[in-house]
Amino acid sequence: MNSRRDFIQTLSLGLGAATLTDLTPAVSAPFLQKAPADKQLRVALMGLGGYANIVARGMKECKTAKLVGIVTGTPSKIPEWKQKYGIEDKNVYNYENLNEIKNNPDIDIVYVITPNSLHHKHVLQVAAAGKHVICEKPVADNAKQAREMIAACEKAGVKFYIGYRLHFEPHTKELIRMREAGEFGKIMHVNNYAGFQIGDPTQWRLKKALAGGGAVMDVGVYSTNGARYCTGEEPVWVTAQESKTDPVKFKDVDETVTFQLGFPSGIIANCGCTYGFNHVEMLRLMGDKGWAEMNPAFGYGPIRGTTHKGEIKQPDVNHQAYQLDGIADAILNGKPDPNVTGAEGLKDMLVIDAIYESLRKNGAKVFINK
Ligand code: NAD
Repeated sequence: MNSRRDFIQTLSLGLGAATLTDLTPAVSAPFLQKAPADKQLRVALMGLGGYANIVARGMKECKTAKLVGIVTGTPSKIPEWKQKYGIEDKNVYNYENLNEIKNNPDIDIVYVITPNSLHHKHVLQVAAAGKHVICEKPVADNAKQAREMIAACEKAGVKFYIGYRLHFEPHTKELIRMREAGEFGKIMHVNNYAGFQIGDPTQWRLKKALAGGGAVMDVGVYSTNGARYCTGEEPVWVTAQESKTDPVKFKDVDETVTFQLGFPSGIIANCGCTYGFNHVEMLRLMGDKGWAEMNPAFGYGPIRGTTHKGEIKQPDVNHQAYQLDGIADAILNGKPDPNVTGAEGLKDMLVIDAIYESLRKNGAKVFINK
């Protein structure tokens, strides 16, 4: 589907070329030993594109999650995946026979890594098959769909997580810990920007029918989620502005969007996202007792951050391995859910809906309807 070049450019959300060098992290996943076979979370990946390849590679470092299955509409990919990851024939599915996965006791969870606008349909299918599900960001095209996905998973009695890998990343976790511990004092302002220059004009990310939107959908979600974890509050209103320098390439979706989020405490986060230029992944938090700055803040690592106390010193890890092992730990060992549930995805979706509404209304202030 995408060319290698697009794949690399997609990574450019810090996702810049530098991130390509970080596929082998300095530190491996949190659990010291591989869990015994009967204590592993057995994962099938759905949609074997660019990001699924990164997840699969990262999962080689997992101790508690194990890649055992695939769902693909492209039969030619199957032999390579079987050979690389030891996938057995009985764990190979396509989009037509996906419902048969319900009869497979050897798969616990399906990780949906398909284009954005297919997430809703695919998560409903997985839930109906009685399997837990992880869905990539953005959770869906809009909050209505996100609510339907949450309801379907609840009805089926399965867990529903979003691929918010940064919530398992040590530098990001330390920033959140410091904020929760009051080390920055009262948060007064947040600034963050995420984006990269998108390549091939024919790719699905530039088609509204498959992507749901443009930069806001794809990378704006890092800005909204980041503003939420920097403040610990949920925004109540949004204003947004778009700049478009290439109306041909971006005829269907947004190119660069700046937006402001108003929070109950009265503070405002100034955020942005782009498909127009590279090296955009910064986050700045300003409190009345201290500050934090992360740059790069959102890519696959290494994540770097400094606060008024000095550098945030944390290990550089493989994001995907930590994410999958963290989710496995919650499911298998009954630990509290990490902050990556479907409900968290819905909160970002509410903001994204409001951003698009504000854009449609020429930047008018839109109150978030919970
Ligand atoms: P991609 O184009 O590389 O892969 C998409 C896969 O979906 C392909 O294998 C394609 O064959 C398959 N697919 C199934 N049905 C399809 C259809 N009808 N049309 C097009 N493709 C179809 O995309 P990607 O970069 O892997 O992104 C997939 C998802 O992962 C997106 O939702 C994206 O936002 C998310 N993602 C997340 C991160 C992260 O850091 N969390 C990074 C990259 C991508």
